[in-house]
Amino acid sequence: MARRVRMGEMAWPEFGERAKGGQATVIVPVGAIEQHGPHLPLNTDVVIPDDLAVQVALRTEAIVAHPIAYGYKSQPRTGGGDRFPGTVNLDAVTFIHTVRDVIKEMARHGVRKLALFNGHSENAMFIVEGIDLAMRDLKVQGVDDLRVMRTDYWDFARLETLNKVWTDGFPGWGSEHAGVVETALMLHLRPDLVDMARAPVHPPSAFPPYDMYPTNPDWMPWSVSMRSPVIATAAHGAMMFEEYVAEMTAAVRREFG
Ligand code: ZN
Ligand code: MN
Repeated sequence: MARRVRMGEMAWPEFGERAKGGQATVIVPVGAIEQHGPHLPLNTDVVIPDDLAVQVALRTEAIVAHPIAYGYKSQPRTGGGDRFPGTVNLDAVTFIHTVRDVIKEMARHGVRKLALFNGHSENAMFIVEGIDLAMRDLKVQGVDDLRVMRTDYWDFARLETLNKVWTDGFPGWGSEHAGVVETALMLHLRPDLVDMARAPVHPPSAFPPYDMYPTNPDWMPWSVSMRSPVIATAAHGAMMFEEYVAEMTAAVRREFG
């Protein structure tokens, strides 16, 4: 039988054997179920970090834990907020405690090298809080050798690569929710889930530099894809994905050997 990568597909003896002694790195993808325009699936923020985790794991002998699929509340400028069918938000405490508990459970099974691959920007500081609470609790329990890496995959993008997609220059991450990057990555990873016939054509989002609650739908493009994704291609997605895999593999090797 081929060596497995996904923890959820292992039986307990195999996971126990590999987790024993703290040698294995475990990667936990963290995402969201959230509207991604009329052309991308609700699980976009899960598929991307999960597929990145699998490719990094194949190169580093890491194990990919089942993703934390629900995320912190979608925000108006980065995901449209809570108005759209299918956006399933967790309260901050629920999300923080989910991250904390997953980390503590991994540590209880002997894992000492943990990487969290985040795919949903709103999660970022709440993941930090979950890591901090877990490490504080574990220290009290006598576990002081756990090391945790936290990543947002888009931080690994190089400007020169982005400028190959936007030949007039990368316009910045501000309007990229369900825009060109996520669409290109999904065209590469899961073309069966992307409907480019429904890809919206409109100017990018133009939010004021503040938020209002309830969210003001007039501030966002009708599609809630914050930038028209029509220039995205599977080839762009492959180029960006390979760069992320290479850079994230290097980071995992650097920190965890
Ligand atoms: Zn997204
Ligand atoms: Mn998101």
